[in-house]
Amino acid sequence: MNDSHCHFFSSQFFATLSKQRGRGETVEQLCGELQWDEPGAPEALAGRWIRELDASGVRRSALIASVPGDEGSVAAAIARHPDRLVGFFMLDPSANDAVDRTRRAITELGLRGVCLFPAMNHVPLLDSRVQAVVEIAAAHPGTAVFVHCGVLSVGVRRKLGLASKFDLHLGDPLGVARLALAYPDVPFIIPHFGAGMFREALMAADACANIHLDTSSSNSWIRYTPGLTLDTVFKTTVSVAGPRRVLFGTDSSFFPRGWQRGVYDAQKTALTAAGVSAADQDLIFGGNFDRIFPVRAA
Ligand SMILES: [Zn+2]
Repeated sequence: MNDSHCHFFSSQFFATLSKQRGRGETVEQLCGELQWDEPGAPEALAGRWIRELDASGVRRSALIASVPGDEGSVAAAIARHPDRLVGFFMLDPSANDAVDRTRRAITELGLRGVCLFPAMNHVPLLDSRVQAVVEIAAAHPGTAVFVHCGVLSVGVRRKLGLASKFDLHLGDPLGVARLALAYPDVPFIIPHFGAGMFREALMAADACANIHLDTSSSNSWIRYTPGLTLDTVFKTTVSVAGPRRVLFGTDSSFFPRGWQRGVYDAQKTALTAAGVSAADQDLIFGGNFDRIFPVRAA
């Protein structure tokens, strides 16, 4: 089994949040307040992830650098465990150095997924600054573009009382479809089935063979549609996009909570209830991830 969506909450991640809060707390103090374990050095956190994946029966995982500027932490993790970890990074396309940063992350640091959060960064998907970034992904085959759409709530920001003035209308899967049509060789990933924009995510995936949906998180967005169940979500997604464009993920992030087995259990039950075959489940739980992000030769 592979997990296509986990967050790498490094020391740099917490230091960045502390800076945003502006109270001068250390990483230790912030983690203490959250009652989360301190990550330590990236290499140590990578080791903890590997032990967690081993204990959970997960072979490979994507780890997302979850604040802009934290590519180096994930790069250190994947350099240690290149056969187990695939590095993604959050990028703010409005930053002056966004293009250089993307190029360096993909070429020098070996990261394979650029993560865009248009609602957070207030940059429309059709903005030329986004196109410039996707252009770089397109020039380096093996790089995916992940676009968070729909409802965006960042648990740790809420816990710390950080303002999150997200412009939700910018995260529209139909905007991803426009980009995906322009760059047909780039794999695009829309997490959480569109996080509330399920219909639009399906429309986008139907229109573009290079759009994939990830299944991660508790998918509590299904409450926006009366009567919708996870079984129906899986059944509909597989019927529209086919089993090859669905990527299992948990959205695991901090320790000591660790890998979210409950998310796996719920999705396994839902897929089985939806009548998805064992072969197709194998693709969703691992085969698709290995095809899009093959283990690279050392
Ligand atoms: Zn996530």
